[in-house]
Amino acid sequence: MRVYAIPLRTRFRGITVREGVLIEGPAGWGEFCPFPEYDDRESAAWWATAVEAAEVGWPSPVRASVPVNCIVPAVGPERAYEIAAASGCATAKVKVADHPDSAAEDLARVEAVRAAVPTVRVDANAAWDVDTAVARIRALDRAAQGLEYVEQPCRTVAELAAVRRRVNVRIAADESIRRAADPLRVAVAGAADVAVLKCAPLGGVRRALEVAEACGLPCVVSSALETSVGLAAEVALAAALPSLDFACGLATLALLDGDVTSTPLTPVDGRIAVPGRSPLPDVERQAPQARAAWWRERVGRVSGR
Ligand SMILES: [Mg+2]
Repeated sequence: MRVYAIPLRTRFRGITVREGVLIEGPAGWGEFCPFPEYDDRESAAWWATAVEAAEVGWPSPVRASVPVNCIVPAVGPERAYEIAAASGCATAKVKVADHPDSAAEDLARVEAVRAAVPTVRVDANAAWDVDTAVARIRALDRAAQGLEYVEQPCRTVAELAAVRRRVNVRIAADESIRRAADPLRVAVAGAADVAVLKCAPLGGVRRALEVAEACGLPCVVSSALETSVGLAAEVALAAALPSLDFACGLATLALLDGDVTSTPLTPVDGRIAVPGRSPLPDVERQAPQARAAWWRERVGRVSGR
C-alpha cells in the first residue's frame, strides 16, 4: 500500500493537496481516494473500486478511445478562451455560479469559450434555486448559442425536475447521483436528461455499468480527481458503456501538479486512449508520515483489514 500526496494547481472543493492510497493486486493497481470529509460508509464504495482494479480488472472495452471535455474554471473571459482553445477538445465544461453575483461574469466566460470551441456545457454545482436556475440557464443558453447541457443547477432531485420542466436545455445530474442512497431516483423523478457517472463513488466499473443500464439515461463519465491509476478505472467505464453520446469529464490530470506515473492518461486531440490496465505507479509522490498514518487507519476501518 502506498499513500500519495500531490498538490493541486488550483484550489478545488476547498482542498489544495490531493491524497489517496494505491494498492496492488494480481490484476494491477487500484486507487482509494475518497475526499477527507466522506465517512466510512460512503468511502466503502471507493474501496470496492480500488479492489476491483487490483483483484479482477475491468470488463472489455467497446471503444479504443474516449472523447473528453476540457474544464474551464471560474476565470476571466480572456483566460477562459485561452484554456479552451489550447485544450484540443471540441467540448468545454465551464464552471458557473461560483459566487452569488456571478451572472455577468458567467455570461462573459461562456461567450468567450464558445468562440474557441463548438460545444459548451456548464456546471453550477447545485448553487441555484429553481427560479434563479431558470433565468440563468436561459441567458447562458443564448451566450453559448445552445448549451449542450447544464450540470446540477440545483441541489435536490425535486428542484432539478422543476427546472427541467421550464427550460429547453438538457439537465445533467451529478451530485444527485454520486452521493444519493438511490442513484436511480433521478431518472424515475424525471429530473435529468443525462447522468454523470463516476465509478469511484459507485463501487467500481461493474457497479457503475449496472447503474447506467438501470437509469436508462445517456451517461457522461467523470473523474473523481484521481491520479492516472484511479483515472484508468473511470476510462474503463467510459470505454465499456454500450453507447457514449457525450464527451467525458476525464481530462482532469491537468488539475494536479504531477502524477504517480510516467505514463499518464492525458488526452491527445481531445481523446484519451483506453489502456488495458491501470498504469504502473513509477513516480515517487509519498505523502508526509502523519498523513500516511491517517490513510492507513482509514483503509483499516473501511476495508475491515
Ligand atoms: Mg459536476
